[in-house]
Amino acid sequence: MALAALESTREQFPILKETIRGKRLVYLDNAASTQKPDVVIDTISDYYRHSHANVHRGVHALSQRATDQFEHARRLLQGFINAREDAEVVFTKGSTEAINLVAASWGRTFLQPGDRIMLTEMEHHANIVPWQVVAQQTGAEIIVVPILDDGSLDMEAMAKLLDERVKMVGVTHVSNVLGTVNPILEITQMAHAVGAKVLVDGAQALGHLRMDVQAAGVDFYTMASHKMYGPTGIGALYGRRELLDAMPPYQLGGGMIRSVTFEKTTYAALPDKFEPGTPNIADAIGLGAAIEFLSPRLEDAHHLESELTLYTHERLSEIPGLKIHGTAPGKAGTISFTMADVHPHDIGTILDSEGVAVRAGHHCCQPLMARLGVAATARASLALYNTREDIDVLASALRRVREVFGL
Ligand code: PLP
Repeated sequence: MALAALESTREQFPILKETIRGKRLVYLDNAASTQKPDVVIDTISDYYRHSHANVHRGVHALSQRATDQFEHARRLLQGFINAREDAEVVFTKGSTEAINLVAASWGRTFLQPGDRIMLTEMEHHANIVPWQVVAQQTGAEIIVVPILDDGSLDMEAMAKLLDERVKMVGVTHVSNVLGTVNPILEITQMAHAVGAKVLVDGAQALGHLRMDVQAAGVDFYTMASHKMYGPTGIGALYGRRELLDAMPPYQLGGGMIRSVTFEKTTYAALPDKFEPGTPNIADAIGLGAAIEFLSPRLEDAHHLESELTLYTHERLSEIPGLKIHGTAPGKAGTISFTMADVHPHDIGTILDSEGVAVRAGHHCCQPLMARLGVAATARASLALYNTREDIDVLASALRRVREVFGL
């Protein structure tokens, strides 16, 4: 991306003009949540100023306007991931709720004692805990694919563990700790060969790389708006129609029914069957604006973030005693590290005093932390508005950590 184009992109994020503790903000906590461009903020504000009413059930003009915008956002999401039809896109609160929906609805209906759910050692708790509970409820068993030392998935181990007992493979597209980008097409082909379904947690992927759910052959794909320049409190589940049609509703109430008597209820067609109650209309529309912002920039952003990832690894490797966790080829811009015996929270606090926002902790990946042999890491994560200058500030702030701890 040309520098001028990048500058104009940065201009569109008002928060990047903030100073933090008197310093220019260097925002490197994008894996937790990205910042929002003007167009997303303005779209939500305009919606409440000019178009708000409840969707779907109104005959009046505002309700129709709100419904049109809400359903337009669904079609934008459908196009963005290349789903066959918009009814295969179900709005949820985020990736967590989307995984819970599949685990509870598909899992409780189709899993039996002796069945296996295959997860990986790099999963976020959102793609572990819902399956654990469903395993307890159904008598299914969880098996785990290990990672290699560079943070890539051990595909040989996966091949050995995959047999017809495995009914579901739950895998993250991009690791929120290691930055590893998993080979989704290869995984779906291997899983489908033994009759297993595949759920891909796309929370860390969609803001950074182009996903085509049909080409990748995934059965379910989950999305988090707030990690792709959209608002919080909204996300989506993509599911193949055949699977969603066969699944019972996850939550029950108004808006998801065809008819109700005290004796019996019949359910609405997709996607309404999975969207009871008043949805998060404004943020769905805001997510639509984020997609219109991101989609034309995605390839440039991917290129820029890949270069910046290499630069970050280079600069951080110069710091004595700093260890990067996750060096898989082609990794995304999520760089976790530890520094000698310094607690990652102390690293985060000192960086904050220099205006640098990173995350420190277990990143909701305690099993992965155990595999890495650490309690926590510090994590710098990139977005399309980050620059080499940001990384230079990070590197000098990390040298400050060394000074403070007398390393
Ligand atoms: N999965 C991964 C890999 C994540 O990094 C996160 C967020 O941190 C989630 C799931 C949860 O996503 P959401 O915030 O949309 O519920």
